Amino acid sequence: MTISRITIGFSAITLCGSLFFITPVIAQTLDVAKEGKELNLYSARHYQTDEALYSDFTKKTGIKINRIEADDNALAERLKSEGSKSPADVILMVDAARLWRAQIDGFFKPIHSPYLESRIPTNLRSKPDTEGSTWFGFSTRARLVVYNKSNVNPVDVNTYEKLAEPINKGKVCTRSGAHPYMLSLIGAMIERRGEAATEEWAKGMVTNMARPPRGGDTDQIKAVASGECGVALTNSYYLVRLLRSTKPEDQAIAAKIGFVWPNQQSSGTHINIAGGGIAKNAPHPQAAVQFLEYLASDPAQEYFANGNNEWPVVKSVRIENEGLKMLGTFKAENISVAAIGRNQIAAQRLLDRVGYK
Ligand code: FE
Repeated sequence: MTISRITIGFSAITLCGSLFFITPVIAQTLDVAKEGKELNLYSARHYQTDEALYSDFTKKTGIKINRIEADDNALAERLKSEGSKSPADVILMVDAARLWRAQIDGFFKPIHSPYLESRIPTNLRSKPDTEGSTWFGFSTRARLVVYNKSNVNPVDVNTYEKLAEPINKGKVCTRSGAHPYMLSLIGAMIERRGEAATEEWAKGMVTNMARPPRGGDTDQIKAVASGECGVALTNSYYLVRLLRSTKPEDQAIAAKIGFVWPNQQSSGTHINIAGGGIAKNAPHPQAAVQFLEYLASDPAQEYFANGNNEWPVVKSVRIENEGLKMLGTFKAENISVAAIGRNQIAAQRLLDRVGYK
């Protein structure tokens, strides 16, 4: 009932720019009052700017947000142990591999929201079933190549494929292949090139390693600057954080490295999402829909993406972010993140076969 009212509200004011989500919020607040004006949010995000996001939602709707913040694994464990008694309404996670896993673990329920469907591109959400998608992306991040300017020619590392070629022998560093960021990248490659070609690539990567995979993305950037590695992969926001840092030690690292947008002449640079969905047993399902719809609104898109130097998923939203400006523009891969998530099992299997730790 509430949902259909939202639909009417939106279709009536779609062309009214900033008034966009005011009507549905008012319409829904009445219904939400019946179920209690609060929302339990389980979030793997932990950015200060999110405070503004949540308080803006509360100001607009009167719905208080109770937050549980933990990393993705801890959230998953908690949801498993709480089972059907979980008080979670909305679950936010990072990376399609984790969102897909959460979907398979049964943490989400389908969301029927014409608004979310109109705002979020189809390749940035879970595959819809009869009732709609179960999770949606709300920001995107890209997986970039970082190289040491003193001994690597960017032309030799400007595709993911080239990292596995003999020219890069002994130069490549990555975090563990089993990490969701790597599983998603490999899952995307499986989607583009098939399993056999991706396995060949992974074999070449193992041959080319400067050291066994270890550490996080920032550790890879540091190892490139120190010369231990010639080239590495990192999510864009770690690079932005470093490039914008005023610490002398970070500036020294930034001076030694260059970056390239991989696959610009072909498939585009691999992108992933931070996103979320409604918990299976959400005690406040209407408030949960309302919150996710809020996240897709123009002002929330700005907060959400800016909070971690990411890009909004809603195409019409432009953000002013100096760090993102430093990175410039690029051609992004347009593979469905749902397919990427699904391919992570095949990705893990082929990594095991080639000994990619
Ligand atoms: Fe991260």
